[in-house]
Amino acid sequence: MNLRDQSAPLELHQQWSQLQGMLRAEFGDVAYRTWLAPLELVGVDGDRVQLAVPTRFLRDWVTGHYADRIRSLWRRLNPKLGGVAIIVIPPAETSATPDATAPAVPPEQEVEAAEAAGLESGIGAPLDPRCTFDAFVVGKPNELAFAAAKRVAELKTPPFNPLFLYGGVGLGKTHLMHAIAWEIRRQDPHRKVVYLSAEKFMYQFIKALRFRDTMAFKELFRSADILMVDDVQFIGGKESTQEEFFHTFNTLIDRGRQIVISADRSPAELAGLEERIRSRLGWGLVADIHPTTYELRLGILQAKAEQLEEVEVPPPVLEFLARRITSNVRELEGALNRIVAQATLVGRAITPDMAQEVLHDLLRVHERRVTIEDIQRRVAEHFQIKISDMQSSRRARAVARPRQVAMYLAKQLTPRSLPEIGRKFGGRDHTTVIHAVRKIEELRAQDPQLNDDIEMLRRLLKS
Ligand code: ADP
Ligand code: MG
Repeated sequence: MNLRDQSAPLELHQQWSQLQGMLRAEFGDVAYRTWLAPLELVGVDGDRVQLAVPTRFLRDWVTGHYADRIRSLWRRLNPKLGGVAIIVIPPAETSATPDATAPAVPPEQEVEAAEAAGLESGIGAPLDPRCTFDAFVVGKPNELAFAAAKRVAELKTPPFNPLFLYGGVGLGKTHLMHAIAWEIRRQDPHRKVVYLSAEKFMYQFIKALRFRDTMAFKELFRSADILMVDDVQFIGGKESTQEEFFHTFNTLIDRGRQIVISADRSPAELAGLEERIRSRLGWGLVADIHPTTYELRLGILQAKAEQLEEVEVPPPVLEFLARRITSNVRELEGALNRIVAQATLVGRAITPDMAQEVLHDLLRVHERRVTIEDIQRRVAEHFQIKISDMQSSRRARAVARPRQVAMYLAKQLTPRSLPEIGRKFGGRDHTTVIHAVRKIEELRAQDPQLNDDIEMLRRLLKS
């Protein structure tokens, strides 16, 4: 039976969307996005409404933490409501389109895999054998994080506690944590290393609560010589879990055990965390991983390409990828894999043109991401004027020309309309934008220097 067929009446949908607003206001953006946004109203069963989530993990969490509140708020809107059931409908069966704001919730299998993996403690997550220090390519953006991770792995007493690694997705945080674990296991297999995601930490904790086994839970964590918790931005919200996390954390630090934490943002920017926890997280060493540079991306690609046995990827293709795929290392790897798969499966020669073709969807996404703000910043930098001059009314050629170049590029590289572009340039009229575009087109034909500048800016912006 497809639950989606017995759709809920319209009025329930209206109540649900009203309720979503109330939940967001009550629990805050982070908790809402992480736990409540995935809920979908799928039907009614007698006087109970059914809300679906994609995984059992989410169901348990939402049932344990939010279901009562959802029910009582809903009763205020609709006194006839009997109850709320949270059910699991795996993503394959849902018709919903993927939502970019949906949280990265571990798929159910992953939680189970971690439990089934039978790690010494039964609480950690499996380690990826590819994620070692040797396999990590070091460059300016990640050298501090790399050096810090190595120190932590090599020294018996914590050199800094905690080590807080942060950076955007796909930049190597998890890789470094796994590398620490491998290195410690290699040097001293008796030391107990526990690595897990913040979500699994919470999941284990809820389970322990349910089975009234929190003592054992505490002991498990507190017996760790080194505890690594990945992606703690997901720990915000529920206070009892934060509390437990904090106690575990303090106990371990007091006992001289090493803690390593990762997040996608700095301690100061972690929303939904209690202030004392936030500030405690910043007491050790906070090492950020910056976005990749062209050199680092090329280095990573070269290292990965060297390991390929079946094919050889020519340098111009690696350079092409390093230039065009700039978001993060994970996408870079994905792009390389796609090209290699295409070459080995279909037997095609690997060339930049072939790469362009195989990756056209990925490359298009990247091109679309150029914003007017990026353009203004780059152009201002290039011509050494103040970024505020992009909006100012100054007419001196030294600022007016670069401003026109920026408008021209905005028209070329973004899908924005002329009036929208005008607005972003200090509320100028769309005719001013048209004039700028024409003027620059004209000048490009006459002035080779300006033409080169624009070509270079355009390449910079699109890479
Ligand atoms: P994060 O945890 O920061 O989101 P990951 O550690 O999962 O990112 O990295 C994403 C992928 O990129 C992984 O496959 C990882 O091995 C690889 N990677 C990231 N940084 C590097 C690097 N400096 N050298 C080699 N591989 C890297
Ligand atoms: Mg990670």
